[in-house]
Amino acid sequence: MTAPRRTRAILLNPGPVNLSPRVRAALGRPDLCHREAEFAELQQEVRDRILAVYGLDPARWAAVLLGGSGTAAVEAMVTSLTPHGERRPLVVLENGVYGERLSRIAQIHGIPVAALHHHWGAAIPLETVVAALDASPPPRHVAMVHHETTTGRLNRVAAAGNECRDRGIGLLLDGVSSFGAEEIDFDGWGVTACAATANKCLHGAPGVSFVVVRRDALAPPDATPRTLYLDLGAWCRAQDQRTTPFTPPVTILRALLEALREHEEAGGVAARREQYTRYSAIVARGLAELGVEPILAREDSSVVLRAYHLPVGLTYERLHDGLKARGYVIYAGQGNLARTLFRVSTMGDLYEEDLRGFVDAFREVLETRR
Ligand SMILES: *Cc1c(COP(=O)(O)O)cnc(C)c1O
Repeated sequence: MTAPRRTRAILLNPGPVNLSPRVRAALGRPDLCHREAEFAELQQEVRDRILAVYGLDPARWAAVLLGGSGTAAVEAMVTSLTPHGERRPLVVLENGVYGERLSRIAQIHGIPVAALHHHWGAAIPLETVVAALDASPPPRHVAMVHHETTTGRLNRVAAAGNECRDRGIGLLLDGVSSFGAEEIDFDGWGVTACAATANKCLHGAPGVSFVVVRRDALAPPDATPRTLYLDLGAWCRAQDQRTTPFTPPVTILRALLEALREHEEAGGVAARREQYTRYSAIVARGLAELGVEPILAREDSSVVLRAYHLPVGLTYERLHDGLKARGYVIYAGQGNLARTLFRVSTMGDLYEEDLRGFVDAFREVLETRR
């Protein structure tokens, strides 16, 4: 069994997350060759369960597994769904690090980009999106981040997606830090593909990511891919044949399978969302009593992570180190935000007492200020 909870570090960073005992046990199973029938079974169940998280029909949708972190899935999605010679731009909605990364990926691969840049944390007004959709030539796809982990903002995908769908424009979603915990209405929002990962809201180990993609959006087998390793079509065809083009992270897939089983048994997306809502409320209430306020209103934030203003008179380093010494790992702001905010995620195998313990530890660290 696990060590007493007091002796484990509580990870409040946005992945990797604390693993449940059951997921951790899966990492220690006997070795398995990926060319054996047991692996084919494992891979298929993981793919089926990923689609089942949002009730997607396997005839129309595919879950394509990749070795690599969430960025691998995002890069595979953008590159595999944009054919060579595409003139129509990829419209990218930017309001944080991950939106900007979508643009960077497209630029690196020579894909024409029309970036709609917004300040980190800003809301993206629908009017700017609509204007970009009606530009000439019209975009092939819009790419956007669902939960922008830079600030905790939950971008409004439904509204943008509706405008795309009305115009026959595809929607590529970075759902890396929302898949499994926030509502994603794949058909209703007109999602073409969504990139996600094992080690955030699904509570698996890092090393596997995936793209949930509409089968009719994949390139035909004779199309020349932009990359060898990140070619979603090739991965999907091999996985449909119950095989794999390259050596997969077998161990990490086993952990993901247990994580997906636990996710379903616990009540799926709705239950996880409810749990994160409760946990983030414990943190928000506790920190508010200490005079520490979130940077975004509740209704603009995900349930997965919230960013808070750093308390006056305390640097991020001192706050982080004081909390870490007490068993809690928080996360810095990215770029310039490192000086003004810190982030608290509620993903992973956590319990209410962990969040209450975090608030107590925070109070102690604040008292060292005086
Ligand atoms: C974590 C994250 C990613 C991918 O990060 P990796 O370090 O590659 O796992 C991409 N997009 C968002 C929104 C994320 O939160």
